[in-house]
Amino acid sequence: MKPFAYVNAANEKDAVAALSKEYEKSLPIGGGQDLLARMKDYVTQPDRVVNVKNLDATVTRVSGGLRIGSAMKMVDVAEHAEIGRLYPAVAAAAIEVGTPQIRNQGTVGGNLNQRPRCWYYRNEEFVCYKKGGNRCFSPEGENQFHGIFGDGPSYIVHPSSLAVPFVAYDATFRLLSPRGERMVKAADYFTMPTKENVQRENVLEPDELLTHVILPAPGSVKSGHYEVRYKTSHDWPIAFATVLLTMSGSTVQGARVVMGAVAPVPWRSQAAEKALAGKPVTAQTAVAAAAAALTGAEPLSRNAYKVEVAKTAVERAILQAAGLAIT
Ligand SMILES: Cc1cc2nc3c(=O)[nH]c(=O)nc-3n(C[C@H](O)[C@H](O)[C@H](O)COP(=O)(O)OP(=O)(O)OC[C@H]3O[C@@H](n4cnc5c(N)ncnc54)[C@H](O)[C@@H]3O)c2cc1C
Repeated sequence: MKPFAYVNAANEKDAVAALSKEYEKSLPIGGGQDLLARMKDYVTQPDRVVNVKNLDATVTRVSGGLRIGSAMKMVDVAEHAEIGRLYPAVAAAAIEVGTPQIRNQGTVGGNLNQRPRCWYYRNEEFVCYKKGGNRCFSPEGENQFHGIFGDGPSYIVHPSSLAVPFVAYDATFRLLSPRGERMVKAADYFTMPTKENVQRENVLEPDELLTHVILPAPGSVKSGHYEVRYKTSHDWPIAFATVLLTMSGSTVQGARVVMGAVAPVPWRSQAAEKALAGKPVTAQTAVAAAAAALTGAEPLSRNAYKVEVAKTAVERAILQAAGLAIT
C-alpha cells in the first residue's frame, strides 16, 4: 500500500477542511471496508485519508421524517426502531448487507459512496474507464454481474443496497464542502456514466462530504423490499427491488418501483409504476408490473438471466408491499 497521511477529524468542519479539491488526492474513511481494500490493491492511492467516524451518527426527527447521520453504522440502521417503523424498506436493505461484521463496521456514508464491485475495476491490471483508461472490459469479457440497463460507456451496477430504498422514499442528501452545504435528492445524486464523468458514480465533489440523509414524512405508504442472492450467501444481491404503494382502499393510487444491481444507478421504473396505478394488487398485476419494469433491458452476453431475476424481485416486492403471499 502506498504511504498516506491520516487525519482524525473531530467534526464535519475539520473533515471538509482536510479534503482536497483534486480528485482522489484525499479521501474520507468511514468503516474503511471498501476504501482500504482498494488502497491495498493499488486501485485508489490517496495521499491523505480523513476519518469521518466522529461525524453525526444519530437519528433525529425532522418535519415528520428522519435525519440520519452519515457516520451511523448499518447495524444501527437495521435495528433502529423509528427507521424500522417509518421506513421498513431501509431497515430491510440494511439488515441484508453482507454479514454482521460488515454491518457493524460499515457506515451509511461509506455504503452510499462505496465504489463498484466490477472485477475489472478492482484489478489493478485492468486500466478501465473508471481508472482513466479508454475502455470498459465487461462487454467483451466476464459480465455475469454487470448492468442490464444503460448503454455504457461503463456497465457497472451501483453496489449500494441503501441507495435503492433511499431513492424510493425520495430522500435528500446533505453535502458539505468548504463552500457550505447543499441538498441533493438521492435520485439526482447517483449519475449515469458519460464519457465526461465516467470515473465517478455521483455528483459529490472531491472536497465534499455526505453528512446526512433526510427522509421525508413517509405518509401511509406500504413497502416491500426483495433481494435475490446466490443461495443465502453474504455476497451482494444479483438483483433487488424496493416498492412503495399508496393505496386508496384496495386500489393502488401511486407506486414507486426502484431496482438495484441492474444499472449504474438505482433504476426507477415509471412503466411499472404506471402498470400498478389505478389497479388492485393481485398476482396478475404484480406479474404485469414486473414485466413492465424490465421492458427495455439490454443484457450483455452473459447476464440475460438477470432480467428474470430482477423481474422476480420486483414482483415479490410488490406482493410483499400489498401483504400478499409470495408463491
Ligand atoms: C462480503 C461483502 C458483502 C457485501 N454485501 C453488500 C451488500 O449486499 N450491499 C451493500 O450495499 N454493500 C455490501 N457490502 C459492502 C459494504 O457494505 C461496504 O463496503 C460498506 O458499506 C462500506 O462502508 P464503510 O463505512 O466501511 O466505507 P469506507 O470504506 O470507509 O468508504 C467507502 C467509500 O466511501 C467514501 N466515503 C466514506 N464516507 C463518506 C462520506 N461521509 N461522504 C462521502 N464519501 C464517503 C470513502 O472515501 C470511500 O471511497 C459488502 C461487503 C463485503 C465485503
